[in-house]
Amino acid sequence: MNTTILGYPRIGARRELKFATEDYWAGRVDAAALEKAGAELRGAVWTELRDAGLDAIPSNTFSYYDQVLDTSVLVDAVPGRYRHLDGLDRYFAMARGVQDVPALEMTKWFDTNYHYIVPEVGPATRFRLAGGADAKPVSEYREARALGVETRPVLVGPLTYLLLAKPAAGSPDGFRPLDLLDGLVEVYAELLERLSGAGAEWVQLDEPVLVADRTEEEVAALARAYARLGELPSRPRLMVATYFGTVGADALRVLARSRVEAVALDFVAGAGNLDVLASVGGLPRKTVVAGVVDGRNVWRAGSRRAMATCAALLGLCDQVTVATSCSLLHVPIDLDAETALDPAVRGRLAFARQKVEEVVALGRAMREGAPAPTAQAASPAAGIDHRVRARLDMLGDARRGDRNARFAAQRAALRLPDLPTTTIGSFPQTPEIRKARADRRGGRVSEDAYTQAMKDEIGRVIALQEELGLDVLVHGEPERNDMVQYFAERLDGYAATEHGWVQSYGSRYVRPPILHSDVARPRPMTVGWTTYAQGLTGKPVKGMLTGPVTMLAWSFVRDDQPPAETARQVALALRDEIGDLESAGIRVIQVDEPALRELLPLREAEHAAYLEWAVGAFRLATSGVADSTQIHTHMCYSEFGEIIDAIGALDADVTSVEAARSRMELVADLRAAGYENGIGPGVYDIHSPRVPSAEEMEDNLRRALQAVEPAKLWVNPDCGLKTRAYPETEASLRHLVAAARRVREGT
Ligand code: GLN
Ligand code: ZN
Repeated sequence: MNTTILGYPRIGARRELKFATEDYWAGRVDAAALEKAGAELRGAVWTELRDAGLDAIPSNTFSYYDQVLDTSVLVDAVPGRYRHLDGLDRYFAMARGVQDVPALEMTKWFDTNYHYIVPEVGPATRFRLAGGADAKPVSEYREARALGVETRPVLVGPLTYLLLAKPAAGSPDGFRPLDLLDGLVEVYAELLERLSGAGAEWVQLDEPVLVADRTEEEVAALARAYARLGELPSRPRLMVATYFGTVGADALRVLARSRVEAVALDFVAGAGNLDVLASVGGLPRKTVVAGVVDGRNVWRAGSRRAMATCAALLGLCDQVTVATSCSLLHVPIDLDAETALDPAVRGRLAFARQKVEEVVALGRAMREGAPAPTAQAASPAAGIDHRVRARLDMLGDARRGDRNARFAAQRAALRLPDLPTTTIGSFPQTPEIRKARADRRGGRVSEDAYTQAMKDEIGRVIALQEELGLDVLVHGEPERNDMVQYFAERLDGYAATEHGWVQSYGSRYVRPPILHSDVARPRPMTVGWTTYAQGLTGKPVKGMLTGPVTMLAWSFVRDDQPPAETARQVALALRDEIGDLESAGIRVIQVDEPALRELLPLREAEHAAYLEWAVGAFRLATSGVADSTQIHTHMCYSEFGEIIDAIGALDADVTSVEAARSRMELVADLRAAGYENGIGPGVYDIHSPRVPSAEEMEDNLRRALQAVEPAKLWVNPDCGLKTRAYPETEASLRHLVAAARRVREGT
């Protein structure tokens, strides 16, 4: 029984990659210094994995920014606008843009919080192997070998690459990136031959697209690609890796008939994989790489279950390799670095290093027929709070009055003009604010001094909004480091890590909190700041909370109960917070759910069940208030398609969304889907420092008014302002208020 992992974090235990790349971008170090840092990080990972006793070690999982971008460069899918640059400068220009050339688009990698750089290809794209004999996967293979480590280069598979690509601007209608498959496969063929020449015995081709719904044509493309690669006379053995769910039976049948030597299946996220494997008659002459150690979550593996899965597989294939379910890119590096965790929680955790140990131990146990190596890890959560459970059982989905009654009650209570103006919550987080929070964490300022600094900031933000003439104000969120972590730190059942960084994109890493036990709210979390702000103004101040789905999506969540149950516990805590805000006189409360779309399952058949619990949790949180209290929600995207009905079902009184770039079309889309509450289509894009003119926003508003009545059209930016600076924020908001006034006067 062999052991392997599908990939390993590249950022370094002390975030070395972040500091090296940011130093390079800032011109503090040269390319040679950055490359040296990269080589050191790669070397450290390879030797660490070898010393841990892993049988097969992946390479080419290192990247200065993103493995999909690496693939674009590898196959020379470089749009013309970057071709005047070369080397690292070209690479980083594609990732981050340069003065006159914007970056390529970036989007989420499947249902994770990792973001990849979207390839852009068109009919004129001519793939070729950039670097030839020194192409990145080949040179990294050689580099590892020189250190005495035999590795298995990992590549983004050709099907996945093209299905994640988007057509370049100006491509003719009907052009699809998949049309370019045959040309791309030839480049992979050349690469495989070169890897073989360098000595590689195995290559891993990642094809996670095979766990989502695939058309017949796409399955046929898969067959064609792997028939071609399989027949190459001199090539390494091929392992096709699927992960993040259950592989499609059609796709697995194709792989079964192909000449690939191994198929990796995810037995953590893909509960159906054993059945699918059995249904296609197994993989008789192939190896199954059994992803039994969760690569995406931080819990220790239940070794008995993992061993049972491996044992069941023995009858369905020629050989079993024990592995992680996916790359360990998605978990923090080392639990040993955490010294402040509650031992009861800590005992249930495994980060990347510990997961490698688990894989090795499971492999040994399977080989030796030994008893389960690690304790049955999925031990019951510590401190189950019976009162939380009892309350959840009692509360139904208490419904508020119907939308018309609520609309009338809120109109009377809030006395807002048509086209009311507001913002999404945060105001610019200035260096002074960050310093105040850091000083407090470091114990350098007293609690009182910190509180005063935040109050002063809130005072400034309220005064500015009054001066600008906004209608519904916010306190500006200066006290929040992060919209999830702030609440996680205040809820029971959550723990924070000190060093648990995970790459989100490029040099941006996040430290997701760990939701380990029953969630409860020991005391109010936001009421003090919000009421302080309300006390400074006669205008309504909007309370600001993070919704239950987002609280789960951006955390590591316990897996010993369904997420639906965990979401209800978070919702209950929020319900209490909302109740307290309401009692304290707050009349508008926003519950942000920017992650609602992100957790949507990869397969359509699972959408309904997910949306039911997601919507249910939001309603549980928000349905306890009076009709006159106005509930808002916010989402940072405009591709609603599949969740448009769910947005209606949330039944928030006002929904604000990103729309500036889509020219307000989604207002009509939402209306057409039966949504009749208030809508705040973002009238300007906060992701850029550009200050839009009042005319431009006015134009957006007039467009939106074709689909919604003025009393229900809210005027707001498309997301929070925390990443912006004050000069452009003030100027943009001034134009926003002016635009709303002009439209009001003209209607
Ligand atoms: N209220 C949050 C803010 O303004 C919302 C952030 C978000 O949508 N991601 O920052
Ligand atoms: Zn947003």
